[in-house]
Amino acid sequence: MINGIVVYIQADIHAGEVEGKEATLMYVRDLLEEKNSGILKNVILLVCPLFNPDGNEKISPLNRTYQNGPVNGVGVRYNGQFLDLNRDAMKAESPEVRGVLNNVFNKWDPAVFMDCHTTDGSYHVEPTTFTWMVNPDGDNSLISYMREKMMPELSKTLSGKYKVENCFYGEFYDMMDPGKGWVLDASEPRYMSNYYGIRNRLGILNENYVYADFKSRVLGCYYLIHSLLDYASVHKAEVKDMLNEVDKKTIKRGTDPAVTDSFAIEYKVRPMTQKVTIRTFEAEPVNDVNGRRNYKKSDRQKDVTVPYYIDYFPTRKVRFPFAYILTTSDPEIIGNLKTHGIKLEKLSADTRIEVQRFEISELKGATRLNQGHYTNTINGSYFSGPKDFPAGTIVVRTAQPLANLAAYLLEPESNDGLVVWNFFDRYLVPQWGMGYNPYPVYKVLNNTDIKSKPIM
Ligand SMILES: [Zn+2]
Repeated sequence: MINGIVVYIQADIHAGEVEGKEATLMYVRDLLEEKNSGILKNVILLVCPLFNPDGNEKISPLNRTYQNGPVNGVGVRYNGQFLDLNRDAMKAESPEVRGVLNNVFNKWDPAVFMDCHTTDGSYHVEPTTFTWMVNPDGDNSLISYMREKMMPELSKTLSGKYKVENCFYGEFYDMMDPGKGWVLDASEPRYMSNYYGIRNRLGILNENYVYADFKSRVLGCYYLIHSLLDYASVHKAEVKDMLNEVDKKTIKRGTDPAVTDSFAIEYKVRPMTQKVTIRTFEAEPVNDVNGRRNYKKSDRQKDVTVPYYIDYFPTRKVRFPFAYILTTSDPEIIGNLKTHGIKLEKLSADTRIEVQRFEISELKGATRLNQGHYTNTINGSYFSGPKDFPAGTIVVRTAQPLANLAAYLLEPESNDGLVVWNFFDRYLVPQWGMGYNPYPVYKVLNNTDIKSKPIM
């Protein structure tokens, strides 16, 4: 029985963004040298200092030349398969991501996960920035906890106790007019910190400021890790209780979903209530080589207090179901669900079940490849009726802790699900004739007596 709170810190997912690689090792070294560390009594710390070793092997001073050190160069963004691992959390096509899902998330179920990066964006003074998981299909009470309590406190500890200037991560909508606001524009769970929120756990994205010198970036990240572990140690009971409650609430919803229980398939961003202060620099317009209007940083430092666009809220929702029923047993689809740790069952007997089916009216692949995929956009309508399913058909009940993740992967209109990433492609179009096959995942909306047994 684990008594401590499990915290997992991961670095170098983009192997050109290297502060975390140094800072995690420094932190572990110092922690182990400390006598009677309170941290070790309360926290089980898991660290992966180098998540993308193949990218790291390509170290060269020619990579990320705009980054302010280290002088001997850094690795590259992609892994050995030319994949961006921080877009792979849902499709899980890389051994690195499958490894962290199986061996860390499923096995240890960390309460908190932090992913360490380096910024590419706006100009500011603060060497260290961070933010939290934002996808609105994660449990909202956890997002609020991060926004209202844990993240402001981390920021205060980092600046007060450890003397590191910091701000929440974002970019200006318009560097020439910072007043328009500061935004976090990555909301999908393909990003690992957002993915972690969909698992109903706490995800943190650390981004160290690319133009700060290497030492300041490493120390900023190092003290952010200190601040995080200080927080986790002091608040371990509070966080563990909260996550337990959320799991219970999620399971309860899945046993008998209400009409109001929903899954957001479209969302927008609005500012959170509190404005944020960013210690930026005035920018000057320049024309780049292609004649496009661009800007460059001036030396005139200026503090701005602006809206922070981070509150993602649903604009279109569908019913959250009691279960999903899959009429395909495609090993890649089933393998993906299993890798995420989702519990699958099989119908014990032939069964007639009242379901909702999704009829496709339009299916379009993107014209440009993204991570090796012509990602799909799908349109269609839902129809209800009884359907016969043979014994052995796969059932995914939503009365399980990873229900939000299961929905995100299986909902036909999900913006980061298995439809998007082409897992269902061969089943959607008939071999002969026009039109589309029904999407081979059926939704059971209401509590239904289904006899099934777990798949091991
Ligand atoms: Zn990155």
